[in-house]
Amino acid sequence: MNDMKIKSGRTGRARHRWVRNQRIQAARVVMRLNQAERRLERCDTCHKPTRGACVQHFRYLGKAKDADLVKVECKSCDLRARVAEYRKSKQLDNTLMTASAFFVSDEKILKEPWMQGDDRREQRVSIRDRLAAQIEYASDFWEISAADEEIYGAIANIEILVWGCAGRVVMTINGKDAEDLSVIFDETSEEPRAGRQGIHATKEQALELLEFLTARSAEFKAAIQPKSSVGLL
Ligand SMILES: [Zn+2]
Repeated sequence: MNDMKIKSGRTGRARHRWVRNQRIQAARVVMRLNQAERRLERCDTCHKPTRGACVQHFRYLGKAKDADLVKVECKSCDLRARVAEYRKSKQLDNTLMTASAFFVSDEKILKEPWMQGDDRREQRVSIRDRLAAQIEYASDFWEISAADEEIYGAIANIEILVWGCAGRVVMTINGKDAEDLSVIFDETSEEPRAGRQGIHATKEQALELLEFLTARSAEFKAAIQPKSSVGLL
């Protein structure tokens, strides 16, 4: 450190700023190297370059920092595997829900009357390209999207009161077979409002969790008590 001080000739606040800038520069170099490395990565399934858009599969045996990277897949191989798993087990997850929502919304938009004009031709072409790339999953996506709507409808029946909470309230419901569903609430809304935040369950399991909760809402209300020992750090 003394060496650095003598060489740079900086003291006090100026030196502090210089050291901080050096650290920022070093972090940027590391970030650029990581990005470059990810661009060179190839998908373990189709062996095509992932160009940085990939899904990494880790295996955790202890702490998260000790996770082993076991597989890297491009997004289309990852989606193909998820749909294949869905066809077998009807297991839903956020990636499937999001892909389905985009696909169904694209199909609906394409049929809108305001989308038929000449000024929208370019947009129609890009939407059709997106749809064509995933057309093999069309019926799965429509089924998943309908499941999401059903789950959303069931969420609307839940009423939970939480007091003295900063920010949004998120509640995760865990089922007996390791399925889970997270619901996020908007307690600032005039009307009761909530939505799905995360999911790892089939449609039936998710609806069962919500029915379980709805049937016991009085018990939950009685069980949720303000805790004075909990506060902001
Ligand atoms: Zn691939």
